[in-house]
Amino acid sequence: MEGYEDVDEGTVRQDGIGGPDGLDRLWTPHRMAYIRGENKPADDTAGECPFCRIPRLEDADGLVVHRGELAYAVLNLYPYAPGHLLVCPYRHIADYTETTDAEAAEISDLTREAMRVVRAVSGAKGFNIGMNQGYIAGAGIAAHLHQHVVPRWPGDQNFMPIIGRTKTLPELLADTRELLAKAWGSAG
Ligand SMILES: [Zn+2]
Repeated sequence: MEGYEDVDEGTVRQDGIGGPDGLDRLWTPHRMAYIRGENKPADDTAGECPFCRIPRLEDADGLVVHRGELAYAVLNLYPYAPGHLLVCPYRHIADYTETTDAEAAEISDLTREAMRVVRAVSGAKGFNIGMNQGYIAGAGIAAHLHQHVVPRWPGDQNFMPIIGRTKTLPELLADTRELLAKAWGSAG
């Protein structure tokens, strides 16, 4: 699957952002889990767009945090930081300019709510938000538009290692998904 391959031991090519930018050194527990292959998709549907496939899974299996009418929020399987969400339209479109007004509005709404929820649940102090358009811009899955919502903490201390220091990445992601899904819509 595009963007989901291991580059070398100790380096995970994340879906999304391209060159080194510091983010990939924020948080390391997931790397060991990844290297051990524990979070490889159980059901290998190579070739199919993951962002088209995810909405057909159960929320817990797809790590879906919230389903809107035209777009949904999902945890990144290969996060830069705990709570790293992606907001995707259901429609398989590559470019932001291809969104309808309604899709663009809902992507924006879900992005704002994702910030509120992650902030409320985790105390994140900042966010990196954005879309990489095209492989040349670093998009891991360029064919299907997705907006990154990456929480940041001072010194990038954060909440998941506290509750999940001994857990594998799939467990961390499952816990995070549950926390965020429960808080969605009531974060103020
Ligand atoms: Zn797609």
